Amino acid sequence: KSVDPGIELVKSHLSNVKHKVLVLSGKGGVGKSTFTNLLARVLAKSNESVDVGVLDLDICGPSMPRMMGLLNEQVHQSASGWSPVFLEENLSVMSIGFLLNSPDDAVIWRGPKKNTMIRQFLSEVDWGNGLEYLLIDTPPGTSDEHLSLVQYLKGLPDIGAIVVTTPQEVSLLDVRKEIDFCRKVNIPIIGVVENMATFVCPKCTKPSEIFPKDSGGAEKMCAELSVPFLGSVPIDPLVTRHCDEGTSAIDTPSACVDAIQQIVQKIQQ
Ligand code: ADP
Repeated sequence: KSVDPGIELVKSHLSNVKHKVLVLSGKGGVGKSTFTNLLARVLAKSNESVDVGVLDLDICGPSMPRMMGLLNEQVHQSASGWSPVFLEENLSVMSIGFLLNSPDDAVIWRGPKKNTMIRQFLSEVDWGNGLEYLLIDTPPGTSDEHLSLVQYLKGLPDIGAIVVTTPQEVSLLDVRKEIDFCRKVNIPIIGVVENMATFVCPKCTKPSEIFPKDSGGAEKMCAELSVPFLGSVPIDPLVTRHCDEGTSAIDTPSACVDAIQQIVQKIQQ
């Protein structure tokens, strides 16, 4: 069977990207893109000499342009490839959304076209002098896109997956499938993040649990499956508003940002 020449292309193109982090979720709407957005911003802010790139490959619902306040941006082609959009000096973003004519465009692409698109996104984006972190936001579940991604990224050094979930059993059930997928395709699991488990009341600053944790939540599942639990990120209405408006949610102190900072420390260990 002939080997896809794109595999070598991606390998050499990403050789100056240190950590390649896939952000996965079993279901949509659990906060995968929100987490990716916050993680990227916190990582970039933690050290200005750390270059961070975000690659939004959520083909069916690219939300990074809205969350990062880049709704009217488009992909620019330069001699050295596709130029990402810079949000900060050390934070750049490339999204499938930048290719759509309007944010309301439905993307209905068949497998081979998605595969080509993913290969191009992995091998043609000009990340400049290289990146410390490339965060790849993927569609929910395990679909054609994930198989394409894995085909191109497999065997590269320093690659790992973070799985985002809510504490409900229906979401956790799908996380088990994501973990199983990573194990089958040999992608190391950096850990699981539990999102929206608690709400910290801004008045009394006490946390309340939102969802029932019949099965013990994500932490217990992680212990059962022997994968690291990275932490729990509470719901913060301010974060929802910032994400809707595309403004930075990390400049105002909140329990949500504190949680992400702790997760960053764990990831950097
Ligand atoms: P996914 O990428 O998993 O489909 P999103 O990141 O788009 O999910 O999140 C779905 C919605 O929930 C968004 O409106 C987002 O602003 C909101 N949201 C996610 N996580 C949080 C959080 N920790 N606090 C407040 N709002 C959140």
